[in-house]
Amino acid sequence: MRIVRIALFFLVYVALDAVSYIEPIAPFAITPWNPTLGLCVAVTALYGPRALFPILVAPLLADAVNRGFPLTPLYSVWVGLLIAAQTALVTFGARRLMRASVRGIFEAEEIRILITALPSALVIASLHVGSLVGLGLLPGGQFLESIGHLWVGDIIGILIVTPFCFLLLKPEQRKAIEFTRVTETALQVAAVLATLWLIFGVHQDHANEYFYLLFLPMIWIVLRYGARGAIVMNVFVQGAMLLALLQLHATAESIVLFQAMLAVFALSGLTLGWTVDQRKAATHNLRARDEKLAASLTTAATSELAGTLAHELSHPIGAISNYVAALNHVTRDSPPDARAQSILAKLNQEVKRATDTLHHLRDFFRTGSLILQETDLTDLVRESTSLFVSRLTGRAVTPQLSLQAGPTMILADRIQLHAVIHNLLINAFDALQPVAPARQELRIGVRRAGGLAVLTVEDSGPGVAQDIRENIFDGLTTTKKDGLGLGLSICRSIVRAHGGTIELQDSTLGGASFVVTLPLIQQGNG
Ligand code: ADP
Repeated sequence: MRIVRIALFFLVYVALDAVSYIEPIAPFAITPWNPTLGLCVAVTALYGPRALFPILVAPLLADAVNRGFPLTPLYSVWVGLLIAAQTALVTFGARRLMRASVRGIFEAEEIRILITALPSALVIASLHVGSLVGLGLLPGGQFLESIGHLWVGDIIGILIVTPFCFLLLKPEQRKAIEFTRVTETALQVAAVLATLWLIFGVHQDHANEYFYLLFLPMIWIVLRYGARGAIVMNVFVQGAMLLALLQLHATAESIVLFQAMLAVFALSGLTLGWTVDQRKAATHNLRARDEKLAASLTTAATSELAGTLAHELSHPIGAISNYVAALNHVTRDSPPDARAQSILAKLNQEVKRATDTLHHLRDFFRTGSLILQETDLTDLVRESTSLFVSRLTGRAVTPQLSLQAGPTMILADRIQLHAVIHNLLINAFDALQPVAPARQELRIGVRRAGGLAVLTVEDSGPGVAQDIRENIFDGLTTTKKDGLGLGLSICRSIVRAHGGTIELQDSTLGGASFVVTLPLIQQGNG
């Protein structure tokens, strides 16, 4: 994999070098367009210092392949050293900048690279040209001009190519590329082409005076696509501009001038792009926070309401419990017949269960506390279901249980999980009401999956109405005439307090499937 990557790097380097060797201060590698440097900076930023080794060799290879060593190979080695040094200066300088106090202003890695590129390109260009003048290979009179030539070439190389390489090679940036507005994008490309034609076609003798027109389509593109728009546009304009200048046989001096203008243009586009991106991200974060706040307000209201309800209901249920006790007392001497006795026993049982559930719920919503004990979820589900079925009268469907063999041990507040299962079963029964009896199906499953106990309650009803799917667990959402819309919200609070999750899925039975996951106790895993 690494070998393939290095070979690919050499290939792209040599190809870029071939197309960018324009207007050199011959026979040296001093040109006003050095995309190879941008490539080197990008790979070093992405793959770290080990990328410097192939960078040392690449100029030697490019000189051999593209020009057959115009000077001695020693010069190519020297250029390799200079490029590696410059790459190291830029990328590691950018990293230092990130650690320094300016962090926050220069958040985008590309901006930090561009900032360190300006001085380091000047230092290396001076070293490069200085060495040639020092050895007597270049006349001293060309010292400043050559430095300018090289500096502009290096800066523009990094400005145009490094962000483009990041766009292609950084996975998170690649993912973000989506051109959904086809017509608008086509119009933008047409606008850039028309402007380039106006500058280099119609006004070729005064092209530099019309160059600023390119800012107009750039602003349009950047406002729409942010920095990514600027990066792609810069590559496009650089290519088109150089082709046009070569076509027009522009002088080296004017190529350097245009490259310098393009550097300002590219930098403006990129900075504007990053600002647009940051603003978009900030708006997005703000909206997400708003939504979270709204959801937590609803949850708070629901909890409050549920707590109040539990509290209020405890009075009548307490009274019923007392009446049942009184009834037991008065019938002690003259016991009623067997049927009445059985009804009385059931009444006793249900009142006790209702009182326990209410107490637990009230405690939970008041203090968030659970009474946890090691529990086999399979048993709990069996118990819950049979209790539920025993209360049903005249309902057609019988729940089918699909329980994985073996214990599914979890830490659970039994009464509260009973309440969750009960609520899911009630909802499923309600959903099955409009369905023909023959097609009514209700399935309850328990299985173990990767450290989790998974409980599913699914039905063959019509499924959850589309418009409430999003906030079905947020509370106060109901489609029932006499519903409160609290059941699922309470279920979620309880499940979350157990460290679990609850979500809505589509059931293979055709209706809704509520999937609850709860953490398995370690020794119960398997
Ligand atoms: P309530 O039952 O009081 O309405 P819930 O929070 O338990 O409150 O349920 C909210 C809503 O979710 C219900 O009104 C119903 O529209 C929908 N829902 C819940 N379970 C199902 C299900 N199994 N099938 C279809 N819709 C369901």
